[in-house]
Amino acid sequence: MREASVHDAGATSAQRQEAPSSSSAMRDDRAHVLHSWSAAGANDPVVVTGASGAHFQDESGRRYLDFSSQLVNVNVGHQHPRLIAAIQAQAATLCTIAPYHANAATSEAARLIAEVAPGDLNRVFFTNGGAEAVENAIRMARLHTGRHKVLTAYRSYHGATSGAIAASGDPRRWPSEPGAPGIVRFWGPYAYRSAFHSADEAEECERALKHLADTIALEGPRGIAAILLESVVGGNGVLVPPDGYLLGVRELCDAHGIVMIADEVMVGFGRCGAWFAIDRWNVAPDLITFAKGVNSGYVPLGGVIMSEAIAGSFTQRPYAGGLTYSGHPLACAAAVACIGIYRDEGLIERSRTLGETVLGPALRAMRQGHPCVGDVRGLGMFWALELVRDRGTREPLVPFNASGEANAPMAALAKECKRLGLWPLPMGNRLHVAPPLNIAEDELREGLSIIDEALHVADRYCAG
Ligand code: PLP
Repeated sequence: MREASVHDAGATSAQRQEAPSSSSAMRDDRAHVLHSWSAAGANDPVVVTGASGAHFQDESGRRYLDFSSQLVNVNVGHQHPRLIAAIQAQAATLCTIAPYHANAATSEAARLIAEVAPGDLNRVFFTNGGAEAVENAIRMARLHTGRHKVLTAYRSYHGATSGAIAASGDPRRWPSEPGAPGIVRFWGPYAYRSAFHSADEAEECERALKHLADTIALEGPRGIAAILLESVVGGNGVLVPPDGYLLGVRELCDAHGIVMIADEVMVGFGRCGAWFAIDRWNVAPDLITFAKGVNSGYVPLGGVIMSEAIAGSFTQRPYAGGLTYSGHPLACAAAVACIGIYRDEGLIERSRTLGETVLGPALRAMRQGHPCVGDVRGLGMFWALELVRDRGTREPLVPFNASGEANAPMAALAKECKRLGLWPLPMGNRLHVAPPLNIAEDELREGLSIIDEALHVADRYCAG
């Protein structure tokens, strides 16, 4: 039992279009690989043999237009020549070095990340991915404040290591429970399915902030180290916070000496039309966690960007955390190149503009033609269609955390997208839309019309 998640984007046997492959890649995979979030016996992955730009292809030569950016990480598309060249050049110079040395790639990556980060977030601690970034951000907040509790939201995902999964607010956490002591959950804003019975976004904002303030009061503000939240909730539904919410969280943190941690692992580096999603509301957190888009996932990398005040906690006293591969030169060289690509190709602005002029209008228009589309939300190159059986009752197209037969409507929709040549990102009762930021505009429009066509499959499950 688990929510159909971003990690389920790989095909199951029910979703496959063709006869199973008998290649050695597939044979060895079936015999020896355990994939993330999967049962080895039920998994039937596509064997990917190559990729370029917004497409990847399987061993039969079938091409897919990638509307998932894999796991929302390949922001500059597949096999970007400048990124490949940077990795090759770094490999020829210095593949690896212990994290206690300085080297040009790591130093430059840290400087560039600090340059694009908001506020006075000027120092970077590098990790291998997002979950480790979250683990270290929590540790930093605790060491900095001397407090223990961490407030996190329901409908959130922060990674699969022990601390990060315990901090997460979705069903992927359940099999790993009991979680960590000191994690307290609250409800964030989600106007379409309001926990506060709000009538509109403004009321949702006000009530969600009141609920958070009450939670802080009842948990004891002097025991709370951090509030950890996704600036725009990713895997749990592309939940864009109402204007004023993140500023309100900032003010609550300031009032009580609580560290504000913005998890930007999925939404950072242009995905939402700004360097960091939180920039869209001009709020500076104390810590930002990042991964994925920092180098488009060409080499694993993540990290924490910290404010001067938190960095100051570790000027004289050692930071009690580390990793063999912290600041790995190959990964950092890829980050340097990737940030250069974002800048030189204007991808951050492009993401914002395409969200406003192409993605948003086209997806909203689908609401007219398809009774299954209940809600449309997003910004930049990050959107979701929330699918329902009935717009009046808002009954979800598939139940919360559906799997197997209960998830059949979403599986059928994903299958139809693939049949039409698009690799989709189905999550729960939503179809997420997250193509590479540099996808050609005609490819973007082509993908949108495939979704429009595929949605007829979901419409069949609607009432009336
Ligand atoms: N935080 C958020 C918001 C994420 O979306 C994810 C992964 O999707 C993570 C953390 C974990 O990142 P990783 O899978 O690189 O450990």
